[in-house]
Amino acid sequence: MKYPLKKKLYDSWNMHPTCVECHADLKKTPRYYWFDLEGMLLGPEGGSAISDSLHVGMMWSLGFHGDEAKDEYMCIDIVDDDHESMIDFKFCSMKCMRNWINRILDDCERKFQKKLEKIHKNSETQNADELEA
Ligand SMILES: [Zn+2]
Repeated sequence: MKYPLKKKLYDSWNMHPTCVECHADLKKTPRYYWFDLEGMLLGPEGGSAISDSLHVGMMWSLGFHGDEAKDEYMCIDIVDDDHESMIDFKFCSMKCMRNWINRILDDCERKFQKKLEKIHKNSETQNADELEA
């Protein structure tokens, strides 16, 4: 999948919602399941201040931190949208939701692994250079 995800995947005002994973028409399924991200600014009374002119954006990222000396760090923005205060991913079933989330986790794991391999390759080359010098 390409990240950040495209807005059409989670457009909550979509009149014809379909399952993000299998594209089933959610008006024809008995129910739908959602995975959402919400941003909320609270007013002094604890109420929502979303209606105020304050700006709320949504961000969902996955990453890892490791050995700082080797620059072992990576962050992938899965969602990066500064126009939404709530993002709804809708699914026909928990199975579809699980498959979709697992796919994102698998994608990230692969990218993390690649990054780590690159870091370790570079540090090996660096060590070899240091030995030769
Ligand atoms: Zn589905």
